[in-house]
Formats: sequence, structure tokens, C-alpha cells
Amino acid sequence: MSPKEITKFPITEAVFKDPSEVIKELTEKIDGLKYTKVIQTYVMENRRLTLILQKTGSPYFRGKIVWIGNKKDGTEGTLFCVDTGSELKQINPTAENTGSVILDTKKEIIAVSTVSTAKCAVCSRDIEIFDDITGCPICQAKAHRDHLIDWINMKHSCPICNKSLYISSTGAISIG
Ligand SMILES: [Zn+2]
Ligand SMILES: [Zn+2]
Repeated sequence: MSPKEITKFPITEAVFKDPSEVIKELTEKIDGLKYTKVIQTYVMENRRLTLILQKTGSPYFRGKIVWIGNKKDGTEGTLFCVDTGSELKQINPTAENTGSVILDTKKEIIAVSTVSTAKCAVCSRDIEIFDDITGCPICQAKAHRDHLIDWINMKHSCPICNKSLYISSTGAISIG
């Protein structure tokens, strides 16, 4: 018998870092994976890869990966746009909502194990994987994007470190 072929690879660090790192892992490990790069977005040519979300080993979400791209605000990390068959969902795995990301090259699946390790600095609810989140550029506190932007527009400071912040004309959170 031949030694058992390895078909599962952790790609967590690549996902937390940058879509180009993820594409590097995918193309190294899956033969003939095709994509088109449009600016900073990698569009999957035949939606071959499946993304699943699982909690304590049980899958609760599944869809075909449409594209892999940068986060809107240019911060580190990877966005996956996934087609569930009825809608397009954006998945944003970060250290606050994700335990591990495993690439299964045999099944052609990216399995994201989700956890909630952080709470929104404004509303105190758990930060979940479908949430659009951002953070304080000074103390790195995380929050739902709309909650933190509303807070800064009202109070002109971070809810955690109280340092002065403002929203720039481009919508970015800036140190005031
Ligand atoms: Zn919130
Ligand atoms: Zn802060």
C-alpha cells in the first residue's frame, strides 16, 4: 500500500493575510485551477471550489466560491464571495471569528471553522463571520463597521481607548 496521501492543508495564516497568499496556496495544491485577476480580485473561472462554514465540526453553510478578494478598507485579510445557489454572501474570516481554515484538495473544499473570540466594542455582541467589521487604528479594538462609524461620528473618539478619531472623506477611520 502506498503511504496515505496528504489532502488537507491548513491555510489559516494565508487567509488572514492576503488573497494573493490564498491564491498561491490554491494554485500550488490544486491542479488546473483557473482564475482571472481583476484588479485585486481573483474571479474563479468555473466555481470549482466549495467553501463551507462549520462550528464544532458541523457544517452550517455551504456555497461555491465566486471570487476571492481584498477587504474593502484595505486592511489585512481575505474576502470570499460565495454563491449558495439562492444568494451571494461575503465571508470575511479573521482571527476574531475563525479558528482554522483547512483546504481539502481531494474534495476541493475550503473548510472554515468559525468561533467567536471577540465582541463588538460598541454593541458587545459576538463578532460573527458574516459581519462587516473594522477596528480602531490605535488600540485595534474590533467592532461592527456601521456601529464604530456611528460611534466616531457622534463621539469623535474610540469607545475603548478614548483616543481622538474621525471618519475621513473616503470613509476610513483616521487618527484625529
Ligand atoms: Zn456592534
Ligand atoms: Zn481605540
